This record gives sequence, structure tokens and C-alpha cells, in this order.
Amino acid sequence: MSVLVINSGSSSLKYKLLEPASGQEYASGLVEKIGDTEGIITHIVDDNKTVLTFPIADHSQALEQALRLFDTHGPDLHAQGKQAIQAVGHRIVQGGMYFSEPTIIDDEVEQHIEELIPLAPLHNPAHLAGIRVARQLLPDIPHVAVFDTAFFHSLPKASYTYAIDRNIAAKYQIRRYGAHGTSHAYVSDKVARFLRNDQLKQIVLHIGNGASASAVINGKAVETSMGLTPLEGLVMGTRCGDIDPTVVFHLYREAGMSIDEIDDLFNRGSGLKALAGDNDMRAIKERMDHGDEIAHDAVDVYVHRIAIYIGSYTAIMGGLDTITFTAGIGENSDVVRSLVINKLAPFGVFLDEKKNKEPSKEARIISRDDSSVKVLVVPTNEELSIARQSIKAIN
Ligand code: AMP
Repeated sequence: MSVLVINSGSSSLKYKLLEPASGQEYASGLVEKIGDTEGIITHIVDDNKTVLTFPIADHSQALEQALRLFDTHGPDLHAQGKQAIQAVGHRIVQGGMYFSEPTIIDDEVEQHIEELIPLAPLHNPAHLAGIRVARQLLPDIPHVAVFDTAFFHSLPKASYTYAIDRNIAAKYQIRRYGAHGTSHAYVSDKVARFLRNDQLKQIVLHIGNGASASAVINGKAVETSMGLTPLEGLVMGTRCGDIDPTVVFHLYREAGMSIDEIDDLFNRGSGLKALAGDNDMRAIKERMDHGDEIAHDAVDVYVHRIAIYIGSYTAIMGGLDTITFTAGIGENSDVVRSLVINKLAPFGVFLDEKKNKEPSKEARIISRDDSSVKVLVVPTNEELSIARQSIKAIN
């Protein structure tokens, strides 16, 4: 049994063919630089890697070409019997108020995803293009939409409400939706299973190029740092996270910047990239090791913001059992983990530095036995989560 998972980003498209129960991967691929003069497709089956470069105009063409590579290089997407694909799972960033569950895609679902484009202008059009091509080329397989916002449907009103005019908010669907939900759901569930305890007050820190925090009580999300869009919250690779909205007015009035320019500045030209001149934490750490003050200051801002979220989430949950790090930086940067957790020493939270530094791809506890809160690292696996949710949706 296998599921093809399709994850269209703003200028890339990732896919994976995998077995949902075991997580075994049969094939994976990445289409990069969509819309550029030279696109790149990498298709991997077992240890065989095929790389092709040619112009790829848009996401429809990207997926069409990727699916063609399955025809020429395998595995066979049209196989029958035991090898048959059970479902195609599509990652959708924004499900708005329409979707709280993985949903089998029909024309009406497509239409709702289209209606939600203003809330996810970079992502939902790419998702739609992927869905349309995939449904056309694989018409006999059920297609399932798995929404990044779904896990945060459980947020209480106090969390999802912005303090603005009620009528304006309702008319323009302005509220906090959250994002990265598939990862937060997967990781918080894994923590509960790993500790054999589903009655936990958890904080999950998904810190990669995008970054978000969530507060989860007994498996249900009660807070998250991303809002109407994935711009709110933590400092990210290229996004600024929380900022006084007055900065927008100020840049518009005083600097003469257009709204689109400010949008671009906050989403693509801010965060670590703006503060350190680089959004790769490996390079920033290297510079810190050589005494680079700019790199140091950037990481200070980054860690400071995370600590603010840990403090406030502990307050709103009325306690805390676990803090879990995941995604590129969370899984790999012992330095960032250490800087974050060291801020919590006054509350009795302590890392075991030996465990923290041991590289591993497995879920693990990295706090000391006497720590008041368990600190964990749990590798996220959004594709596996999408595959499993897709199977649930069709059964
Ligand atoms: P993601 O978006 O989850 O793929 O995370 C990407 C980010 O993870 C990159 O921008 C890197 O900064 C960071 N990253 C990956 N590997 C390491 C590492 N070994 N140490 C520190 N940061 C890392």
C-alpha cells in the first residue's frame, strides 16, 4: 500500500511515494526554481538519482514533468494489486474556516481552496495547480487535501480573535488560523506516544526556515504563534515574525514604500537574513564561533523571541510538561537548543548537554533527570503525516 504525497511551495514542488504504516519511502523528488529560466527536477528511486534541468514555467508543468519521470524511471503510479497507490495526499497551507479535517477533493473543495487564495496568495494557487494536474493525470485514485491550518481549528476564541472591529473581521475572514499544523500535530502526538502519556501540557517549537510554536494540552492545540498568515510569531529565516503594525504605516508614509514592497520586505527580506545577512543557521553558528558580533546579536533576537513564547504558553496552559524541538534548526542545532533552554534555568529546566550534543535522527529526551520540564528532540515528518491522514480520509 502506498500514498503519493505532493507538497507545492511557492517556487518549488516536493513529492514522495511512501508506505503510510511503516514510513518506507519508495521514491521522492523535488522540482526547484519553478518560473526561473532554468528549473531543476531531482527524482530519486532507491539509490538512483535522476537530475534534469530545463525551464519549468509553472506548478502545472512541474508536476506534469515529475509524474512523467515516474513513467520513465518508476515506480509505476498506475500499478494494480498490492503495488497500487491508495491515495494522493496534497498539502494545503490554508484551509480557512472551511476545513478542519483531511478532505477528499472534489470540484467544490477545489473551489473553496481557490476562494482562500487571498489568505495564502503564495501557496494556494500552487496547490491548486498541483491538484488539477494530479487529478487529471491520476483520475482513478482518490485525492485528499490535508490542511496546515486544520490542527489549529481547536484554538479557543481568545486565541484566534484579533482585537479589531468584529464586522470587518467577519467580512474579511480575519482571524488567527495558524500554520505548520501537520508538523505540530505529528510531533505532539509522537511525544505523547514516546512518553506513553497523552495527558500532557506541551510546547512544540518547529524551527526551520519557517518557524512556529504551539501550545498543546492533551493532544489539542490551544495556542500557536502563526496568525492570519505564517508571518506572525517567531523570528524566521526571512520573515520578521511579530512586529508593531505601525511599522507598516511608517514605512509607507515616511519611506515611501508600497504595500507590496513592505509585504516583500517582511516575508522575504527580514528575519535572520536581515539581521545576520544569512538565513542558514549553520553559517551563522560558524560565524559566532569566530566571534562575529552581528551573528551573535541576530541569534540573541531569535532566542529571545522563542523564550517569550515559552513563558507565555506556560502561563496560558497553567503549567508545562514538555518542550520539543523539531525542523531543520530544532533537530540539528544543539547551540540554539542550549541557548533557549538555558534561559529557563530559573524555573528548574535543565539540559543534559551530553545528550543535547549527541547527533541522532530519533526522538529523544535531552533534559536532565532532575529537570522540571522534559525537553525533547523529535524529527518531524510532514509527508508521513499527510500520507497517514490521507488513508484515514478515504476509509
Ligand atoms: P527546514 O525549513 O526545516 O528544512 O530547516 C532549514 C534550516 O535548518 C536551514 O535554513 C538551516 O539553517 C537549518 N539547519 C539545517 N541543518 C542544520 C545544522 N546542522 N545546524 C544548524 N542549523 C541547521
